[in-house]
Amino acid sequence: MKLPKAKRMYCKYCRKHTEHKIIQVKAGQKRGTLRHGSIQRAAKRGLGVGFGNKNRWGSKPSSPKRTGSKVSKKTNLKFKCSTCNKQQIQKQGFRAKKIELV
Ligand SMILES: [Zn+2]
Repeated sequence: MKLPKAKRMYCKYCRKHTEHKIIQVKAGQKRGTLRHGSIQRAAKRGLGVGFGNKNRWGSKPSSPKRTGSKVSKKTNLKFKCSTCNKQQIQKQGFRAKKIELV
């Protein structure tokens, strides 16, 4: 979905309509399971060898399986006022696969 980079909207601090810059808030990257390269390295070092993968070691599925789970995520936007530089957060997010600021 394409969104404009700036938008005229009401600023509760200036108490009037001003130009607002739209900022997309990115979620911090979570540290997940090991990547395939590090699994191979761990095996060379003698880790994760034996029976079972202990919820950690082993090969990974070739393609991600999407069964029933949603593909889209809710948006997380912030609006920065160009006059007072204060930020307001989006009241309610909407679902979109991809957000593009044009
Ligand atoms: Zn303002």
